Amino acid sequence: MNTTPAPRIAIIGAGPGGLTCARILQRHGVTAAVYDRDAGPAARDQGGTLDLHADNGQIALREAGLLEEFFRLARPEGQEMRQMDPDGTILFHHVPGQDERFKPEIDRGRLRDLLLDSLQPGTVRWGHTLRTVGGPAEGPRRLHFAGGATIEADLVIGADGAWSEVRRAVSPATPRYSGVSFLEAWFHDVTTRHPDIAELVGQGSAAAADGDRGLFAQRNGGDHIRAYIIQRVPADWITAGGLTPQATDGIRALLLERYRDWSPRLRRLITDNDGPYVDRPIFALPVPHVWEHDPTVTLLGDAAHLMPPLGVGVNLAMLDACELALAIARHDTVGEAVRAYEKTMLPRSTETARLLDGAADGLLSTEPPDFATADDH
Ligand SMILES: Cc1cc2nc3c(=O)[nH]c(=O)nc-3n(C[C@H](O)[C@H](O)[C@H](O)COP(=O)(O)OP(=O)(O)OC[C@H]3O[C@@H](n4cnc5c(N)ncnc54)[C@H](O)[C@@H]3O)c2cc1C
Repeated sequence: MNTTPAPRIAIIGAGPGGLTCARILQRHGVTAAVYDRDAGPAARDQGGTLDLHADNGQIALREAGLLEEFFRLARPEGQEMRQMDPDGTILFHHVPGQDERFKPEIDRGRLRDLLLDSLQPGTVRWGHTLRTVGGPAEGPRRLHFAGGATIEADLVIGADGAWSEVRRAVSPATPRYSGVSFLEAWFHDVTTRHPDIAELVGQGSAAAADGDRGLFAQRNGGDHIRAYIIQRVPADWITAGGLTPQATDGIRALLLERYRDWSPRLRRLITDNDGPYVDRPIFALPVPHVWEHDPTVTLLGDAAHLMPPLGVGVNLAMLDACELALAIARHDTVGEAVRAYEKTMLPRSTETARLLDGAADGLLSTEPPDFATADDH
């Protein structure tokens, strides 16, 4: 960057996308501040495990100078995968080879810590919930946060996820319900407390589906397993059933009825969980999602292209972040950098979004997943 004075860059969202962007900018001597609504790095459970792919997420980590550290923390054995039918018969079982590193798993919290620890102190301003982006398109932009704080920025990067506030500055699009809903269930200390489930899931994941219902369980670090009970239901299926998300016993009884024909072993993923279920209806942005170039506002990750969770979201978010940061470092103005970034990012994400449009339904398919027949990496 040759511009003087240096542009004021505000990244909204300290998820994997926003943090990767800040890290790569800093490696190139570009200052950026990250604003997140969380009160602090440990304010909430970060969710389950993520697989970072060699052809996108890992490229970003290499540019961030964190790839070797990632491999030290990651779980390559997590690439193990079993596909079963509802009576528990194994249809497909992939056991990763010794050196298989195409998509190792890492807990989301560990990935966030890896990225956070790599940033200059004070980069992330916690407790900042963005309300609106004001100011003219030619800049400077004025960011309004809950509680009344405002700041000025020459470039606003929306890395604020599915329900992005930044997105509203460039696009009227909002996510739509996919028709498929996840219910998350947690299992702790599985070796001693849930040995049968630990064996069912192995070191990676186990999935089963009957066309209308599915179960998907994944090993996380720290002897945890997370399971997703996947159903084709209205987004409000819990309240429509006269229940609340906290009504664990009532939800469990409803699920046991719905999964009554499934094997008792698989049904333990519904009955034996620790603590309440977490309701996660699956939303996606309309396809294609594009917007008129704006030299002072851009989007990355889920804010730009929320898709069904089929293993690409975090990878695309990190690749977007990498390419945007490199573009900023290499161009004279942030406007030129944004234009160059969007020229690649928008067609790429549109192509993937088209492939995954409606694919949440595929999670319920009785057909073996594509990766069961694809060449092993
Ligand atoms: C159940 C489930 C399982 C998934 N599994 C996988 C998987 O295995 N592999 C994969 O690649 N992807 C997976 N995904 C998708 C993946 O989680 C997302 O694509 C990824 O997290 C997107 O990263 P991001 O940085 O764009 O946004 P996020 O991770 O959503 O981060 C957004 C950040 O912005 C902050 N924020 C939001 N609004 C504001 C605001 N107004 N002001 C300030 N801060 C704000 C949030 O606190 C958050 O820290 C899964 C998704 C779900 C729902």
